[in-house]
Amino acid sequence: MSRIGRARDLIHPRALGAIALAAVAPLVAACALDDEAGGPGTRPDSAARATNGGQFEFSAVVPGVYHARGVGDLVAGSNAAVIVNEHDVLLVDSHISPAAASALLEELATLSDRPVRFVANTHWHFDHVHGNQVYPPEVEIIGHEATRAVIAAGGSNSGRSYESFIGVLPDRIARLEATLDTVSDDSVRAALRRTLDSQRAFHAQVREVVPTPPNTTLSERLTLFRGEREIRFLFFGRGHTEGDVVVHLPRERVLITGDLITAGIPYMGDGFVDEWIETLEHLKSLDFEWIVPGHGMPFRDRERIGHLQDYLRDLWNQTVAFHERGLPAEEAARRVDMRSHADHFDVREPGVPLLTVTRIYELLDGAAG
Ligand SMILES: [Zn+2]
Repeated sequence: MSRIGRARDLIHPRALGAIALAAVAPLVAACALDDEAGGPGTRPDSAARATNGGQFEFSAVVPGVYHARGVGDLVAGSNAAVIVNEHDVLLVDSHISPAAASALLEELATLSDRPVRFVANTHWHFDHVHGNQVYPPEVEIIGHEATRAVIAAGGSNSGRSYESFIGVLPDRIARLEATLDTVSDDSVRAALRRTLDSQRAFHAQVREVVPTPPNTTLSERLTLFRGEREIRFLFFGRGHTEGDVVVHLPRERVLITGDLITAGIPYMGDGFVDEWIETLEHLKSLDFEWIVPGHGMPFRDRERIGHLQDYLRDLWNQTVAFHERGLPAEEAARRVDMRSHADHFDVREPGVPLLTVTRIYELLDGAAG
């Protein structure tokens, strides 16, 4: 999952127009899980991008390999990657709900008429796996054995991270309704109403989820050969979660990373922040030109791996120091100052999400799973 969006993410971009967002942005919680700015120079050739007027935008990264990003009112959660093989299709990640996964399947028909035979889950977070149930049993759903274990134990639809993004939906909807009653400007009302409709639909869609774990697992690596294509599934250690798998296409030089590295700052609430730094180091040994992340746009700049390592190292060290001094997590979350990374990440003021510090405190206290 991505970090909670910035203020302008609170209302769907299509509905923005020229409205006075500042008036309403603080009143509602983040509604956008599905996008994160990738920064300049990160987008594949715009001529290769197409939305077809639907819920997803498909960008060709290399021939036959697409980045699919939710751009409509339907909440998609993570990106997906689409790998079209000689006789079949492999998808990486299944979005946040069966409705989102079904919409992707429908729109996929504009790219290929080959059947989806494989789905990879990069990790167990709900926004990457809660569409798994739409695939029939003969589709192989590939993931790390830890990912299967967490989902099978009910971990993808419970716990702190789930509650902070999904459990808050009824409250978020109530606040949007209350806000709508206080706004008179027509364009703001229209934008709020559209967001409200989207969130109500999303709430109904998440209630349809039946968590469905991978039916094919790996512990360190697995390789598929599909015609000319070699598709490697690789686990290098704990990071964003305990079971992050990256998908590497060595011939096409594409690396699909889930949330191990994203276009912005990845969510940390279930991370192994110290081990994550070392896990990222392994990515540097792979041959690739493109990184296709779980959130945000594909990018080519390999230096970003080092930037994220630097960020994680600094975050870890600052938080350890506050922990040693006995500061409560709430205060540490306000005081951790990551502004020295502003050249590479969207950091504008001191402070990090409380869940980030809570998680690091758990790791330090030996209380993390
Ligand atoms: Zn995630």
